[in-house]
Amino acid sequence: MKTRIGLLIELENGRVKPANMEMIAMAQSDTAECHAIVVNNGIEQIKSHLESYGVDRIIHIDLASDKQKNPVLLADVMTRVIKKFRFEYLFGLSTAWGKDILPRIAADMEAPLIMDCTTVDTTDSTAVTSQYSGKTMATFRVKGPVKVFGIRPNMREGIERQVSAQVDVWNEPVQESETFTVISTGESEKESAQSLVEADVILAGGRGMKQPENFSILKECAGYLNAAVGSSRVPVDSGWVPYAMQVGQTGEKVSPRVYIACGISGSVQHFAGMKSAGMIIAVNPDENAPIMANCDYFVKADAIDIIPEITRILKHGTPPGK
Ligand SMILES: Cc1cc2nc3c(=O)[nH]c(=O)nc-3n(C[C@H](O)[C@H](O)[C@H](O)COP(=O)(O)OP(=O)(O)OC[C@H]3O[C@@H](n4cnc5c(N)ncnc54)[C@H](O)[C@@H]3O)c2cc1C
Repeated sequence: MKTRIGLLIELENGRVKPANMEMIAMAQSDTAECHAIVVNNGIEQIKSHLESYGVDRIIHIDLASDKQKNPVLLADVMTRVIKKFRFEYLFGLSTAWGKDILPRIAADMEAPLIMDCTTVDTTDSTAVTSQYSGKTMATFRVKGPVKVFGIRPNMREGIERQVSAQVDVWNEPVQESETFTVISTGESEKESAQSLVEADVILAGGRGMKQPENFSILKECAGYLNAAVGSSRVPVDSGWVPYAMQVGQTGEKVSPRVYIACGISGSVQHFAGMKSAGMIIAVNPDENAPIMANCDYFVKADAIDIIPEITRILKHGTPPGK
């Protein structure tokens, strides 16, 4: 009999986030049956998208949008779904949403939980995750009727495989939580609009950006690169940018394809958050900065001069003097 894996699909504006496809690819094997769990009012568009990545079955939790926003209520629903469909594993993304919901589900089910997994092997219930701010990687084995894993985005490619999946609708009555009420929700920090942990490209600034206004230089360039803007701790502590943009030991751990560090010296604490990036490019006038030893490309330049030039080229398509 195949191992039943529930995959909690994360949506953004009603669409499937690309990182879900990587999670599906990580769960798939000859011995696994992958069930995508979608919490939404509608399913049609989502269904065809998930079918193109080979999920065996889709469970549609038909929940009103105000109820979807209550993590306690959602964890309760998920616990009932896991029991009903007899999942042995639950996978979700280690994003802000996943970090809110997955530990609640694990606690409700008294199930072992590993977050920020770079790989998971369901044949022996092991997962690899980083420890001590990324200084070491650890492999854990967990036991129990249900095991919960948070998957780090950007660790592998999604694999397209067209199938036709059965859809089960879960619309059992839900009870309001007695302990937790959502009064209101809304965007808090506009600067963190594009999720850092899921970004393919990150343009990050540090003390070398010199003043808060210069982060607008990074934001404009990021718009043309389809990149998220990140930061070292100095601009955060100085109040230039919100904490949500901080990368590092005490900030977000990111794994983009490309990380461009502008005016960042490359402290061990910063490196702890971005060392698994596919390519690191540093822009810094000081070639003795520690980041020189840890980057793939070093651009010896003033970021405040060079980034607007790059933006101009991206905008008009012609390098200066050509
Ligand atoms: C417990 C603890 C946790 C921490 N957690 C974090 C964390 O999560 N994230 C984090 O980032 N830090 C963290 N720190 C802070 C960390 O130690 C460093 O102080 C911080 O990363 C330095 O930030 P920076 O590189 O922006 O600044 P600096 O180290 O001051 O480097 C600035 C760089 O900008 C360059 N520069 C100057 N002008 C320009 C210019 N015009 N263009 C381009 N480059 C220029 C300089 O040559 C220099 O290399 C932590 C520290 C502690 C003790």
